[in-house]
Amino acid sequence: MENLVQKTLASLEQHAFQTAHFASLEEAVDWMNGQIPDGASVGVGGSVSVRSSGLLERLAERGIEILDHWKPELSAEDKKELFYRTQRVDAYLCSANAVTADGCILNVDGMGNRLAAHCYGPKRLYLLVGINKLVADVSAALDRIEKVAPINCQRKGFDTPCTKTGECCDCNSPDRSCRAYLLLRRPTRAVPVTVVLVDQELGF
Ligand code: SF4
Repeated sequence: MENLVQKTLASLEQHAFQTAHFASLEEAVDWMNGQIPDGASVGVGGSVSVRSSGLLERLAERGIEILDHWKPELSAEDKKELFYRTQRVDAYLCSANAVTADGCILNVDGMGNRLAAHCYGPKRLYLLVGINKLVADVSAALDRIEKVAPINCQRKGFDTPCTKTGECCDCNSPDRSCRAYLLLRRPTRAVPVTVVLVDQELGF
């Protein structure tokens, strides 16, 4: 695993992604908290890695505004407006579905808000990534996504075949969450990306 981590970090750096590497989630959260200045606006994706890390609570304690579309009180219209506002934040926080040893980042979305933030809008994107997300190459990244997508559908209670069977059948369900696939081979010219890699398993 150490070789995979070092190879991935080197490849990402070579591809102009910035990286930070920590042994523990606690250290990573301390570092990320320090990267976001007082008064910054922060957007967050539907990421278990980020949402269970304690980082959002640390930022909120400092009075930092977090634009969170998961707040239950939001109406459909409020949520839509929040998605647009989130595209202009100082920092956007999420994880990745897979990071390859040859330096690419693959994500899949149903809505596309998270993918949009990867391409254009936020002043910086931070990806909090556990070692369970590391794979050899893009083909292995797609395999990984096919395995974990049913778990995410089950977690979110989507009405998809994989929620019942635990396996992907490339469905045509209206609830299908695997719709848009974004492969970052390099960061776009608009959004600098920092991959914060932790030597622990995080999220799915
Ligand atoms: S394509 Fe459909 S069946 Fe496959 S993981 Fe996505 S939602 Fe589930």
